[in-house]
Amino acid sequence: MAPRKLAAGNWKMNGDLASLAEIDALIAAHPAPSCEVLVCPPAVLLHPMKERAGGARVALGGQDCHADLAGAHTGDISAVQLKDAGASHVILGHSERRADHGETDAVVAAKAAAAHAAGLIAIICVGETETQRDADQTLAVIASQLDGSIPEGATAANTVIAYEPVWAIGTGRTPTLDQIAEVHALMRERLGGRIGDAAQVRLLYGGSVKPGNAAQIFALSDVDGALVGGASLKAADFGAIIAAL
Ligand code: PGA
Repeated sequence: MAPRKLAAGNWKMNGDLASLAEIDALIAAHPAPSCEVLVCPPAVLLHPMKERAGGARVALGGQDCHADLAGAHTGDISAVQLKDAGASHVILGHSERRADHGETDAVVAAKAAAAHAAGLIAIICVGETETQRDADQTLAVIASQLDGSIPEGATAANTVIAYEPVWAIGTGRTPTLDQIAEVHALMRERLGGRIGDAAQVRLLYGGSVKPGNAAQIFALSDVDGALVGGASLKAADFGAIIAAL
């Protein structure tokens, strides 16, 4: 059986307490979505979101965590703290973290291991740059990021993979449906060598997912949901994407 679909919203460094009204509006418009709905707000909003009526009805996630579970790391947040604040998931290895903070595959794998130790589901992101796609390196890049970023002990229950082409994030551009399908098929096959229940691992597509393109992307086999940035900030847009899943 195919895994249940997942619509994950990545608010990035956007939103404030007033934005929590969007979650209430989302839940009011979609009280019983057929897919699982996850929102990953800035960490400071996790707890207030959890306390709120709407927030209690969606799963919550962090956008990063430290590889250590506690300690002297000023400014960082641990997976244990995310869990304590109400998170069930954490996004790891997003291309903005890889680019802005120099995160390597090994760092991402260490963070994912910490997330698993804390009882969080790790959403591990991979994706090629435009230069790599133009040089026909996409499949090799994805294979190598998967190999390096997934820790020992990963299972379909504690790990989700998001394919996010770097050049498609926030640009309004997306790969063709064939290109998405090709990468997702490669990921499924590659995971087979690493994870016993690879067929059950949820594979998300992310990068300029919008109400207008969601249904086509979700119809592809091996696409089990989406990681949505900009369009997750507004209840109307995220709701339309959820309805397409
Ligand atoms: P986008 O971002 O939907 O705004 O392109 C996706 C992401 O970075 O997760």
